[in-house]
Amino acid sequence: GESRIVSPSVRGDEIDTTMRPQALDEFVGQAQARANLKIFIEAAKARGEALDHVLFVGPPGLGKTTLAQIMARELGVNFRATSGPVIAKAGDLAALLTNLEERDVLFIDEIHRLNPAVEEVLYPAMEDFQLDLIIGEGPAARSVKIDLAKFTLVAATTRLGLLTTPLRDRFGIPVRLQFYTVEELELIVRRGARILGLAMTGDGATEIAKRSRGTPRIAGRLLRRVRDFAVVGGNGKVDAAVADRALTQLEVDSAGLDQLDRRYLTQIALNFGGGPVGIETIAAALSEPRDAIEEIVEPYLIQNGYIQRTPRGRILTPQAFRHLGLAVPTRADQ
Ligand code: ADP
Repeated sequence: GESRIVSPSVRGDEIDTTMRPQALDEFVGQAQARANLKIFIEAAKARGEALDHVLFVGPPGLGKTTLAQIMARELGVNFRATSGPVIAKAGDLAALLTNLEERDVLFIDEIHRLNPAVEEVLYPAMEDFQLDLIIGEGPAARSVKIDLAKFTLVAATTRLGLLTTPLRDRFGIPVRLQFYTVEELELIVRRGARILGLAMTGDGATEIAKRSRGTPRIAGRLLRRVRDFAVVGGNGKVDAAVADRALTQLEVDSAGLDQLDRRYLTQIALNFGGGPVGIETIAAALSEPRDAIEEIVEPYLIQNGYIQRTPRGRILTPQAFRHLGLAVPTRADQ
């Protein structure tokens, strides 16, 4: 639902802009991606050329947009941002592309949601830095080619599987982002607390980090909510007890799972005997869109061993039953 505290896909809170790291060296985590990007950026700068097109893949809130912005800043070029569903017509993309300067970064979020007519325009733009446009209609229609500045497309997707192969093949630098470790999230939380001028103990930071679902955006959001609790109920300082009280009240449990995570797990445990059960059935039972479940709920639950995705459907693990406080069923079929 919309009000989900750990929903990583909602943007625009004040904290997002104040806490966003500005340079590659300030960016915590994703060590391998960062190291690779650093080399590619330096090489492109040394050659004075546009960086190859980059595709970021990973769940929402892991820093795809932030990294794209950082790349533009490190390259010393303009940053233009849009998203797949916003580009309605081929002409909208053409307008964006013709306004780019040499080596600029164009960021397209949710690239898997581009409409096919727009995608057709993107191919020659990415490959040859050319626009192929049809001007006019009927017998008077003619095709024109327009040269574009050599730009870098940085795109982000939560669902690599939904990208067409020709589009996927046009990215020279694919980068997969991983969920963050508790230690990395701790650094992010401490940095956020410093920026907010919030006093926090080490175990306070750990508690928030542990319950952030591996996701910096969630860490930022929890931090801000915990700050409210510290100001109103406590003495202004965030320790583990204040953090725990705040997060429990927000229904984020000790493992960082929220209400929707628990509804999802409980549903499979109680109504489907622990699975296997198909995603459509789960989505219908939860009255949540299948997309949201696959993009936001499941990746973290899979990574942390609460469910398994099999050809026959989702299966709850013994760990999930234990987390819910339920007896682990003995399975005759496994
Ligand atoms: P995405 O584009 O993957 O959905 P964003 O780049 O918008 O994610 O990041 C979400 C929020 O998390 C932003 O507020 C950003 O400042 C913060 N954030 C993301 N990655 C990091 C990081 N490595 N260190 C600190 N903050 C981060």
